[in-house]
Amino acid sequence: MIKENLEKIRATLPKSVTLVAVSKTKPVSDLQEAYDAGQRIFGENHALEMRDKHEVLPADIQWHFIGHLQTNKIKYIIPFVTLIHSIDSANLLEAVNKEAKKHDRVVDCLLQFHIAMEETKFGLDMEEAQQLLESDEFKQMQNVRICGVMGMATFTDDEAEVRKEFKHLKKIFDTLKVKYFTDQSQFKEISMGMSDDYPIAVEEGATLVRVGSKIFGARNYNV
Ligand SMILES: *Cc1c(COP(=O)(O)O)cnc(C)c1O
Repeated sequence: MIKENLEKIRATLPKSVTLVAVSKTKPVSDLQEAYDAGQRIFGENHALEMRDKHEVLPADIQWHFIGHLQTNKIKYIIPFVTLIHSIDSANLLEAVNKEAKKHDRVVDCLLQFHIAMEETKFGLDMEEAQQLLESDEFKQMQNVRICGVMGMATFTDDEAEVRKEFKHLKKIFDTLKVKYFTDQSQFKEISMGMSDDYPIAVEEGATLVRVGSKIFGARNYNV
């Protein structure tokens, strides 16, 4: 099933879009099945869960952290994480930088923006992002690299609303690119789109889509 799901999704994605298989809550055997079907990028949203899976699964997997990251959990993922999608404060970025320095790494990060109508979703607004990017603290950070932006749309059937939010994130990306990253080729990622809305996200310029249940089936949070 997982293999067929992956193949179906891959067939619909343009070459320019990278699929992050969101495997949170799923057992290692499911990830292994996806791995055997060629998937190498996995997304998790709990630090310890990601670390535990990393320890037992093949070393060439690229681990993307996509959830709200608490500063006291950073240490569990910094030795191996490939990309943190969810930098939602200057403090968090600073803490990631500090931990990355201990491991002599430069860790790739995305800035997460709040684009949804729901209050509960984490993320920066434009003003906070500009403050961060213009701060002296940021200019001193040698162990993080900002590679783009991430956002989550409102959970709704209203396609027009979702599209509007993705357009907004694309515009944020374009604005930041011109203002702060013109000559930095690594600033190229727009992480948006999940199982229910990734086709819209792709139309609106996503370079990374984060798909979970369409690959692994519905999650059961009670087990
Ligand atoms: C869980 C999660 C996803 C994947 O959700 P699905 O609807 O299962 O595809 C994507 N992004 C983030 C940030 C998530 O937490």
